[in-house]
Amino acid sequence: MALWITDECINCDVCEPECPNQAISMGEEIYEIDAQRCTECVGHFSEPQCVQLCPVSCIPVNPAYVETPEQLLAKYHRLQRAALPPGAETGPANDDAADAAPLPAASSLPASA
Ligand code: SF4
Ligand code: SF4
Repeated sequence: MALWITDECINCDVCEPECPNQAISMGEEIYEIDAQRCTECVGHFSEPQCVQLCPVSCIPVNPAYVETPEQLLAKYHRLQRAALPPGAETGPANDDAADAAPLPAASSLPASA
C-alpha cells in the first residue's frame, strides 16, 4: 500500500526531504503523499523513512491503495525508468508482468482522522 498523511500532521517538514521517491509535498494545509510515487520505500530502504521520522506518527497505510510487495517494487522500477534522461534506457524493455500492473484505483480516499 501507499501511505498517507492524516490531519494530525504538524507540518514539521521532516519527512519531505527524506522521501527517496519525492512522493511527499506540501498540500493546501498539511503535507501529502502522492500514492503514485510512494513505494513504502521498497527499492530504497527496508522501512518507510517517513514513518520512521514522523514525530507524531500520522502516516498510516492508505487503504485506498492496496498493493503487494511485487507491485510496490514494480512501481519503484517505473519511477527509476521515468527518472532517466531521454534515450538513456538502452536495455530491453522489462516485461515483468508486475511491472505492467496498473495502480489500483482509489475507490475512496480515507476519511481524515
Ligand atoms: S513510505 Fe517512503 S516512498 Fe512512501 S512517502 Fe514515505 S518516504 Fe516516501
Ligand atoms: S514528519 Fe509527520 S508531522 Fe512532520 S510534516 Fe511529515 S507527516 Fe507531517
